[in-house]
Formats: sequence, C-alpha cells, structure tokens
Amino acid sequence: MNPSEKLQELFLKFPGIGPKQAARFVYFLMREKNNYKQDLARNIEALKDSSNICEKCLRVFSKYNNQKDSSICDICANSMRDKKSLMIVVKELDIDAIEKTKFYNGKYFVLGNLLPFLTEKPSEVINIRELVNLIHNDLQKEEKTENLEEIIFALPATDEGENTINYLKKTLAQIVGIENVRMSTLARGLSSGLDIEYVDKNTFKEAFEHRG
Ligand SMILES: [Zn+2]
Repeated sequence: MNPSEKLQELFLKFPGIGPKQAARFVYFLMREKNNYKQDLARNIEALKDSSNICEKCLRVFSKYNNQKDSSICDICANSMRDKKSLMIVVKELDIDAIEKTKFYNGKYFVLGNLLPFLTEKPSEVINIRELVNLIHNDLQKEEKTENLEEIIFALPATDEGENTINYLKKTLAQIVGIENVRMSTLARGLSSGLDIEYVDKNTFKEAFEHRG
C-alpha cells in the first residue's frame, strides 16, 4: 500500500467520512505545500502526548488546557461544580455545546455511543461499566452531603436514544443506594431528533427546565 492509499484508509476512520471524502482529503494534501504537510504531521504527533482521557467522565481533553498534568479533566477537577448532578451525554461535542449555554453547572459522563436495538453486548458499545462504577463509588462516599442526587439523560430524541435511556435506567436501577437518585430526561418538544451538539441556549434551557 503506498502512502496515499494508506492515508485514504486512515481518513476513512474519521467520524462521518466516506471513501469519496477520504480520497478528496488525500488529493488535497498531495497538492498542498510541504510546510502545510509538515505542520499537520507535527501537530498530529504532538497530540499523542498532549491529550488524555479523563478517568472519571471519560472525556478526551487537551493537557495544555489544564494547569497540571492530570488524569482528571478540568470539569471533574473543579470544586465549584455541583456534584449532585450528573449529565449523561454521547460525546465531547455535546459537552462543549452545553457548556456554551452556561446553564448547567453539574458534572458529565461521556457514554461514547448510543445503543442500537438488540445489542448483545452493550458494554462493548457504550461505557456502561465505567458509568456503573462511577455512580456506585459516588454513592459509597462517606460525605453524604455531596452525594449524587440526579442523573440527567441528555441524549438525542431518536429511537436509539430512547433505547439507550431504557437500558441505562434498567441497569443503573441495580446499583445499591440508587433509590434516592432522581433519573430525568431532557424534555423533547422543539428539540425532537436534534443532536445535542447543535443545541442553542434557549432550546437547552427549555429542555432542561422541563426535564422529567
Ligand atoms: Zn472529567
């Protein structure tokens, strides 16, 4: 396989990229000046050492945004954030969109995917084990005043979104001590079918205030 074929194969792994687009990227790079290619290669190389996955919320974050070299992201490490609310999202872009609204001050958890119907091994598709551990450990904490009080599902209002929420509710219900934790879902209404990453401030505010 020559470098252009190899690159095409690598671009195919990008989210939402098909063979035509992957080939277009390769032709683009072949035409670009060498310093552009060097710059791109150098920054991809640097990304290796500068990104980390938060061990609490599983969000990918850039270490340059954090003061210290940490395995926990700035949201999880921030003591001003409300520890009583945990919002479940699919991906980092959803967190970025919600943070931009400045309307939510709790914690997050990145599920990684939605659960398709009839999935045989959900733990291979979504981060369910990590979520159960996170909530279990939280409920075991000595400091009861800081315990989790609400889990908010911020997933798209699609059939797969519904399927995922049903599975999560059923699975999380087995955690000892979960009875005192409210489980809510963002209100649908206007945002029906909307991907959370495109949510604007007013839509999010509406959906959040009318969650149930
Ligand atoms: Zn985190």
